[in-house]
Amino acid sequence: ALSDRLSRLVKTMRGQARITESNVQDMLREVRVALLEADVALPVVREFIARVKEKALGQDVVGSLNPGQALVGVVHKELARTMGEGVADLNLVTQPPAIILMAGLQGAGKTTTTAKLAKHLIERRKKKVLTVSADVYRPAAIEQLKTVTKQAGAEWFPSTGQQKPRDIALAALDHAKRHYFDVLLVDTAGRLAIDEALMAEIRELHALLNPVETLFVVDAMQGQDAVNTAKAFKDALPLTGIVLTKLDGDSRGGAALSVRQITGAPIKFAGVSEKIDGLEVFDAERHAGRVLGMGDIVALVEEVQKNVDLGAAQKLADKVKSGDGFDLNDFLMQISQMKKMGGLSGLMDKLPSAMTAKAGNVDMDRAEKDVRRMEGIIHSMTPLERRKPELIKASRKRRIAAGAGVQVQEVNRLLNQFEQMQGMMKKMKGGGLMKMMKRMGG
Ligand code: GDP
Ligand code: MG
Repeated sequence: ALSDRLSRLVKTMRGQARITESNVQDMLREVRVALLEADVALPVVREFIARVKEKALGQDVVGSLNPGQALVGVVHKELARTMGEGVADLNLVTQPPAIILMAGLQGAGKTTTTAKLAKHLIERRKKKVLTVSADVYRPAAIEQLKTVTKQAGAEWFPSTGQQKPRDIALAALDHAKRHYFDVLLVDTAGRLAIDEALMAEIRELHALLNPVETLFVVDAMQGQDAVNTAKAFKDALPLTGIVLTKLDGDSRGGAALSVRQITGAPIKFAGVSEKIDGLEVFDAERHAGRVLGMGDIVALVEEVQKNVDLGAAQKLADKVKSGDGFDLNDFLMQISQMKKMGGLSGLMDKLPSAMTAKAGNVDMDRAEKDVRRMEGIIHSMTPLERRKPELIKASRKRRIAAGAGVQVQEVNRLLNQFEQMQGMMKKMKGGGLMKMMKRMGG
């Protein structure tokens, strides 16, 4: 398994001070196999490894990192960088209606994603959204789009198998213009394999509609094959973004790296369930962890613990000692400290996701989401509420929950967790706190 591979790598490198030409080869061989196991395509792996080598060579190894750890760090960072910088939402900057053209193989998830995007645009960006299907080869596909569009709360423009895709597109565009829709999502025919006639058809649609977004929808489970598909679509169309679907499956998601590298287009969204709300903005950093096997990264970072801001921890300790009390600001600081350490596992036993996670198979994505949600909740509080959590009664809870986009129960849960932590702090006093924070670092 990957975990064994990377830990072995780290162990064998112990005692060496820097990444050199002589030790880098062995390490990169392990990383290469790790990426191939995650289903990244071979040519992409080759190019990636060459880049990592260049970046890693001569790197001094800081603190208690050994070259193996340092290299895994470089790989993680480079993976995240390659898969995307920052968050890339849909571009709607155009004369409305903004047209979004969906492209991809049959079964990739185009129709499902069309509805998910409609919902996203309605809820997050307050747009008036119309969908239309140009999949004239499968009447069932047109019906499917109708059903999911209704679920999304968007409007669906009727089409039939008797029409030509270009006529459908023009009619839908005309309707969208006359009824002041902000966005027109155009679902297209599924291609079972790369088929020239169908490629010509979607090219024609593209030329006709001049979409502001041309999204390539690709199934993460496609693994190695994703490369050829991506190449074919990139050659046919000027892609503006990628949606990686079925990330809820057990694929390691190496396709993300391949597709991103081949097309050069940003990965904008990830499909994480069959349901209409199963769409997330793609998070490259987190996905890099998945491709490498997050558990390994965390284990490594825990060994390091150098990122702990001991100064801040000391300040917190002093505060508790001096009897100033432990408030939600301190709690927030503690949460972000633990996040900084990467030592999320130190926090794990306090998070709800940990209780459902099997031992040794901690659900890092869930944990990270929990942490982010906790931060979001505290950020939605006023400074006074953070200093005096006892003020937070029902109406404040409702406001905070609304502000953070969570249920009131989650605010309650956070306040409970805070109280528990506060209780612990009172018992421990300052000296114990320093020790605890260090312990949580690894
Ligand atoms: P299309 O042929 O490209 O339009 O693909 P569909 O939208 O019809 O999706 C094909 C199948 O994949 C359907 O059964 C969908 O429910 C499923 N699907 C699509 N996206 C996801 C996803 O993100 N996760 C999961 N688990 N299933 C998905
Ligand atoms: Mg479809």
